[in-house]
Amino acid sequence: MRKLTAGDKLVLATHNPGKYRENADLLAPYGLEVLSAGDLGLPEPEETGSTFEENALLKARAACSATGLAAIADDSGIAVPALNGQPGIHTARWAGPERDFMVAMERVHSELGGSGDRRGIFVCNLSVVWPDGETASFEGRLEGELVWPPRGDRGFGFDPMFQPKGFDITFAEMDPARKHAMSHRALAFAQLSEALLDGR
Ligand code: IMP
Repeated sequence: MRKLTAGDKLVLATHNPGKYRENADLLAPYGLEVLSAGDLGLPEPEETGSTFEENALLKARAACSATGLAAIADDSGIAVPALNGQPGIHTARWAGPERDFMVAMERVHSELGGSGDRRGIFVCNLSVVWPDGETASFEGRLEGELVWPPRGDRGFGFDPMFQPKGFDITFAEMDPARKHAMSHRALAFAQLSEALLDGR
């Protein structure tokens, strides 16, 4: 498989500033020039796929064909086993048009009701599309407990409700560097880095 090497210019196909920040931080040591689809004003394609991988690939393809640059897209969300895997690929939609994650967290909390199974699994698919159509996909998963009420003001999205397994603080209470080192995104990124980036 081809590599991404220092000096390569690529676009991160996301309009979510939280995801851009985390992915740009992960890519920072590799000397790549990383642009953001949001900053470039690229249109956001409709996420019509039925898996994280299909949605990541369609976002990366859209950004790649709009810019002529290699593109990386992150499709992620939280799968709740007691809710049959929902919200899953629809996580952002559960936050409504205002993208208010308090609304989404409240919905998960109320649908869980008194369920004894409070597991949540953060999933991140990172997919790369090159201008000649070659693609690569990597997926990371991290299990945690869904706590209520939400705690902490760092991070984004569902972080205040997600307490990773083995910890007694939520992602929103954790030092961002620590979250970035262990998250579903970090797990997907470790696979991407192993396959596509020159050892660091
Ligand atoms: P999408 O991939 O743009 O469809 O959106 C995924 C949604 O999942 C985000 O808007 C967040 O709410 C949630 N999500 C994904 N990764 C994280 C994370 O690291 N922390 C908290 N929420 C996340």
